[in-house]
Amino acid sequence: MVGTYDNYIWVMYDSTQGLAWIVDPGEARQVIDFLQQNQLQAAAILITHRHFDHIDGVAEIKANYPDCVIYGPQKTPFTLIEKRLSEGEQITLNPDLHFRVLDTPGHTEDHISYVNEKWLFCADTLFTGGCGRILGGTVEQFANSILKLRALNEDLLFYCAHEYSADNLAFATYVEPENTALQQRLNQLHVNYPALHDGNVDTLGLEKRTNPFMRFDTPALKAKLIAKGSKDCPAELFATLRAWKDRVDQGIEKITVDEKQS
Ligand SMILES: [Zn+2]
Repeated sequence: MVGTYDNYIWVMYDSTQGLAWIVDPGEARQVIDFLQQNQLQAAAILITHRHFDHIDGVAEIKANYPDCVIYGPQKTPFTLIEKRLSEGEQITLNPDLHFRVLDTPGHTEDHISYVNEKWLFCADTLFTGGCGRILGGTVEQFANSILKLRALNEDLLFYCAHEYSADNLAFATYVEPENTALQQRLNQLHVNYPALHDGNVDTLGLEKRTNPFMRFDTPALKAKLIAKGSKDCPAELFATLRAWKDRVDQGIEKITVDEKQS
């Protein structure tokens, strides 16, 4: 479901058991409405990091479903977390629903992601065609977190927490105009927020082929980043690319047709 800001709130559920597991409820009302309409009980909430648009619904959902277990990062300042998790821990939400925890700091210092054999919930670490801003973590942490996600299985379905696809892929094309996989993806992109995915999301493999933040050390992009003053190491390459995107986001640098073609 889609939140008030431009967040996605992902809900996994089992209709037979009437149970639901919710990722990053930034608000409660829509989640509770959805649970009631589908005769579901909230069994657990999985929190990735401390930002309000990921946690603001937690207290009200817990008040309505007292048995709901709240999982979240070991290091987070958010006090409602009941089961604090860090790298490598496994959680079992249901007999056939498990997740492994990955520490993925960088966007914030406390960010974790949840992965199993099918799904990756990585919230604001990696978006479709982009990544989160640095709001508490370091560039070293962020680069390492992205490399950690990049090492995962390409077939994983990839669930991020915000809809910035069009904007991110425009920037991606600006920095990698020669990437044919990216051109193809952009041609097939029809996203108007709010976009209801209905479970139809892309794979991590497609991100690896088209998302510049997973490609900062590929030869062509690396050469451009070094030409912009970056040193040849993951943290610097990532930082230079992130700063480039920030300049575009702030309107300091404009994506123009001429620049795209140069
Ligand atoms: Zn965030």
